[in-house]
Amino acid sequence: MNTSSHFSSCVAEYDPNALPVSAAQEIVRQWALPRGRTEVEHVRLFDALDRVLAEDVISPINVPSHDNSAMDGYAFDGATLLNGSDGSDGANEASLPDSPPLRLTVAGTALAGQPFEGHPLAAQCVRIMTGALIPPGCDTVVPQELVQRTGDTVTFASARIVRGANRRLAGEDLAQGHAALRKGRIVRASDLGLLASLGIGDVAVHRRLRVAFFSTGDELRSVGQALAPGCVYDSNRYTLFAMLRRMNMEPVDLGIVRDDRASLERALRKATQDADVVISSGGVSVGDADFTRDLMNTLGDVAFWKIAMRPGRPLAFGRLWSGKRPGEGESALFFGLPGNPVAVMATFYFIVREALLAMSGATPYSLPLIAATSSQPINKRAGRTEFQRGVARRDTAGHWHVVTTGPQGSGVLSSMSEANCFIVLKHDAGNIDAGDSVDILPFDGLI
Ligand code: AMP
Ligand code: MG
Repeated sequence: MNTSSHFSSCVAEYDPNALPVSAAQEIVRQWALPRGRTEVEHVRLFDALDRVLAEDVISPINVPSHDNSAMDGYAFDGATLLNGSDGSDGANEASLPDSPPLRLTVAGTALAGQPFEGHPLAAQCVRIMTGALIPPGCDTVVPQELVQRTGDTVTFASARIVRGANRRLAGEDLAQGHAALRKGRIVRASDLGLLASLGIGDVAVHRRLRVAFFSTGDELRSVGQALAPGCVYDSNRYTLFAMLRRMNMEPVDLGIVRDDRASLERALRKATQDADVVISSGGVSVGDADFTRDLMNTLGDVAFWKIAMRPGRPLAFGRLWSGKRPGEGESALFFGLPGNPVAVMATFYFIVREALLAMSGATPYSLPLIAATSSQPINKRAGRTEFQRGVARRDTAGHWHVVTTGPQGSGVLSSMSEANCFIVLKHDAGNIDAGDSVDILPFDGLI
């Protein structure tokens, strides 16, 4: 099956030597489809954190299960005692002038977990604590701060309270039969609590995405090896591993691969067999050996792009197969990232991240951009999106200000460690003056 027309037709309307970031993102979005429903597993709550829900979670009960009190105070029948005034507008305290004081007799006590068993009569009330069931016949709670109690009698100004006040209605948090959480949601801490509040002990989640990654380059050495002249330590595997872990992917580390066709072919075939997604770094720029392109065409359908972004210009994207020909055997989505360490992180963040979310079955969400004032001029060339590294701070008036971390070379990894945000300079923007507004993207825990 010859599928190489797929990607070329996607990029046909753009200059592949200057593909805008937004176009690259759109193409990746079209190709990064969620895997099917067959890959669902059931996990217990403690194992569900950061997993992707495979089904809507329908609430089996009302939460709260019964009407209960929101305050410590006294529960009574608001209808008979309050001239029919209605608290349904959400107000808890009315301001009716000249209402007479109310005097009620305390008929008993309702505690959380220990309901009042009787049915209070007119002119009676029940001492009630927060979370306790509202007794039958009662619908209103007057907080204890508003009453005067003498023996078994409480007195309060009826103008201070409306019918229905301080009552939590059954199902007001979560209604029985409604979706409490939607499929595609990445389970957060609050969700674990919410599921527990429904009495749900396990949930259906998608299998974690397996992502194989390796570094290419004859100059690369592993931590622990001696560094010969002209060699560098391989850092990309560590940043990739960390970002994959932050996204709760299942990383598969395939090590360092030498710059020769046989080694690369071996690595790509193994990765394609083992994983859903393959990420390599290095070896995709124009100067790199032609065997890379040639090999990619043998193994699958891979386009080589020059993305109009900095850092991170060269990028290969496509689909690989483990069989003899493209279309045969296992398949995996492939991202060939540039080798420079900052470019790896930027392309992962802005091109790869959303694809991994989508393939995991998660509903992708946009990264939150915040407007900030640049405290300095920034050189920027129109016609490419730049992701500079910045240090942002918020002033006492609540405005954000940002400076760059200094030299912005795509090999300067310390700029990433020093930064607390990307400064995202739009495709069409030219040089930035001090005082101009720019977008910043606070690091989202991924970096
Ligand atoms: P390449 O894209 O292979 O031409 O690599 C571009 C630059 O990034 C070169 O200076 C490489 O030495 C460097 N580089 C490539 N891969 C890595 C890596 N895994 N760790 C650190 N630096 C790398
Ligand atoms: Mg290289």
